[in-house]
Amino acid sequence: MTDILNDHLKKVAPLRERIRGDTLPHFIGGEPDPGSSGLTFENLSPVDNSKLCDVARGQAAEIGKAASAAEAAFADWRRASGKTRRQILHRIADLILSRREEIALLECLDTGQTIRFMKAAAERSAENYRFFADRASEAADGLALPAEAHLNYTTRLPIGPVGVITPWNTPFMLSTWKIAPALAAGCTVVHKPAEWSPLTAMILAEIGQEAGLPAGAHNLVHGLGEEAGVALTEHEAIKAIAFVGESATGSKIMAQGAPTLKRVHFELGGKNPVIVFEDADLDRALDAAVFMIYSLNGERCTSSSRLLVQRGIHDDFVERLAARVRNIRVGHPLDPRTEIGPLIHPAHFEKVLGYMDVAKAEGATVAAGGARSAYSGDGNFVSATLFTGVRTDMRIAQEEIFGPVLSVIPFEDEEEAVRIGNDVRYGLAGYLWTRDVARAHRVAQALDAGMIWINSQNVRHLPSPFGGTKASGIGRDGGDYSFDFYMETKNICVALGDHGIPRLGA
Ligand code: NAD
Repeated sequence: MTDILNDHLKKVAPLRERIRGDTLPHFIGGEPDPGSSGLTFENLSPVDNSKLCDVARGQAAEIGKAASAAEAAFADWRRASGKTRRQILHRIADLILSRREEIALLECLDTGQTIRFMKAAAERSAENYRFFADRASEAADGLALPAEAHLNYTTRLPIGPVGVITPWNTPFMLSTWKIAPALAAGCTVVHKPAEWSPLTAMILAEIGQEAGLPAGAHNLVHGLGEEAGVALTEHEAIKAIAFVGESATGSKIMAQGAPTLKRVHFELGGKNPVIVFEDADLDRALDAAVFMIYSLNGERCTSSSRLLVQRGIHDDFVERLAARVRNIRVGHPLDPRTEIGPLIHPAHFEKVLGYMDVAKAEGATVAAGGARSAYSGDGNFVSATLFTGVRTDMRIAQEEIFGPVLSVIPFEDEEEAVRIGNDVRYGLAGYLWTRDVARAHRVAQALDAGMIWINSQNVRHLPSPFGGTKASGIGRDGGDYSFDFYMETKNICVALGDHGIPRLGA
């Protein structure tokens, strides 16, 4: 055991002790709330599947209470000046930074994500608040649209209390990416975090309160998707649902929200290609391909889970790739040397292992991994896995595995690369590597996905649109796109003089 792992374990022990005895409550109307049902569920640590704590299991009653609190707070928060919202959101960012170590340690313990990535994720969370804080004053801005004898102008108004439903991969960061723009726009929030990773959501709610948000502006209700999640999407007072999760859940939410005409924003699954042409900078392409699937335990919507390699370089590239993958270090998430930690939950672990069997049955070659990891028998540890000889019609090339599993598919030419790249139901992201500028643009335009990176790993720029096509989502996050979702655009038309008014009944 390294000194740093030891040090992290010592720091995490009191945090663990603090949560062990009590039931993790909701946070409603500015204070912790145990809920009225007395129901709970267990939260496990992926490291050894031991119990971390019990969590209050919200039902329709708790969602109703939180929605009422959000509705009451909306009356004030929507009127708070841009300057006030800016100041409070910056304070939230400051407080996130001051607690970033605690956030990162708890996130690792709760999700199995590694400390090397969770420290950066906590910092990015603060950045999300700062980014939208600085735009809070502009959120209502619109357009001037002069017409003959009239001036039309638009302005934007916050839509109302909104529901935010988040998944378990990097849960803290993802929830800030959704909640910060909602608050900056003047909306109030009911957050339902994933039941497999509930710990850090409480910290965010507490921080919001401490930073000066009005009570009820940021509410948190824990619970299962089919209970608290359903109730939130069906609640009359909730005007919109911002959802990040699986495509199948997105479909359900759309149906659940239909009777109350919910506005929905979906960030869903992906099966993203990374396409490597013969003329690429192969060293950098290799680094990026490895990083984009094996970072964050492969539990990443934008992971490059399909590697398309041009035939002429295929064998050499795959040989180098396999050597790198065999060398990836699986271990304790709090060990800074660890590159892949345990998967979130035994059910997900079994799902990912199931794909190892599917791959073998489909005739793919296991070039690395392909089984549970020898690191520890207690937790949900899988080896970094590489399948070669994959065809696009195999399930491992079509379905989102959401683990550290890469499928390699060879291609002959640009046309075939695009065809295979697009031959999935998803369309979140695509990555391509080539030195041919014209080809780079042709392929980028031909790939049916919301985001394309050329000669780049997934480097995010917060004003740029984030989101997918096909089964990967509806709508875009980032910059003004986020405000468009959380706000209603109002057009105001004023006559500049006398214009013709048809006179009926004169
Ligand atoms: P999930 O859909 O199972 O759950 C996500 C959330 O939805 C959880 O909070 C869950 O409790 C809730 N939920 C489940 N059923 C519900 C229902 N009927 N009504 C309302 N809420 C319900 O997803 P997951 O397994 O937690 O997360 C992994 C998925 O998230 C992957 O598919 C991944 O690609 C996707 N994801 C997408 C992005 C993106 O930006 N596109 C980012 C991260 C993760």
